[in-house]
Amino acid sequence: MTYAGHRLSTPPGRRRILLLVGPVGSGKGTQAEALSRQLGLQHLASGELFRRALREGTQLGERARSYMEHGDLVPDEITIEMFMAELARPEAAAGAILDGFPRTVAQAEALDATVAERGERIEKVISLEVPTEELVARAAGRRVCPTCGTPYHVSSDPPRVAGICDNDGTSLVQRDDDRPEVVRARLAKQVPPMLEVLAHYERAGIVAHIDGRGPAEQVTEAILRALTADVSAA
Ligand code: AMP
Repeated sequence: MTYAGHRLSTPPGRRRILLLVGPVGSGKGTQAEALSRQLGLQHLASGELFRRALREGTQLGERARSYMEHGDLVPDEITIEMFMAELARPEAAAGAILDGFPRTVAQAEALDATVAERGERIEKVISLEVPTEELVARAAGRRVCPTCGTPYHVSSDPPRVAGICDNDGTSLVQRDDDRPEVVRARLAKQVPPMLEVLAHYERAGIVAHIDGRGPAEQVTEAILRALTADVSAA
């Protein structure tokens, strides 16, 4: 089976499950969107699912609220329950790209068990790798319009007039979250459990290490090549 010139390693009929792992700012969300569009898989982003639950004021949202507000991980029990329900929905029948889940080994084990119960397997764990200094630099260049929320980047996505929002002429601001010391602190908290999840899947031999630097389209191409590599090598 081919798609846009790429041979796919999963035969039709079997659901494709891909995991996208990477620190905040690695471009994980952008890549998940691109892959979702190109491969016809549902993009399931745990952070987005939690934020939606918060907005809608559901019971799940209320259970997750205080953890999210403190920037802590929501406990595994709540997260696993939510994510498994999403994975079981008809929208994910053709397959899904998991973005932001699993974030702990317990979550990974719960996912593995559910997938195995259904006679499925995780096809690939895509590790999107960007050096810390580049992550800090990317965040440092980020600006946002305080009025309409439009995001910009001083070098990769600048407004027409430096420092001014294209939509409403408001002066752009830097979010506190994007300051170098805040980014470094966030990474220091986020990276160790992420490495544990990667080590878990490394043992299963299904991790593809992808260089996350460079233009987004080039990174997407590298991921698609990694997805077809097994077939090409056979
Ligand atoms: P994100 O948009 O991925 O940064 O996620 C936003 C927030 O949602 C995180 O700070 C956590 O509080 C929560 N969250 C997202 N994914 C997970 C996960 N897999 N496990 C626990 N908490 C999560």
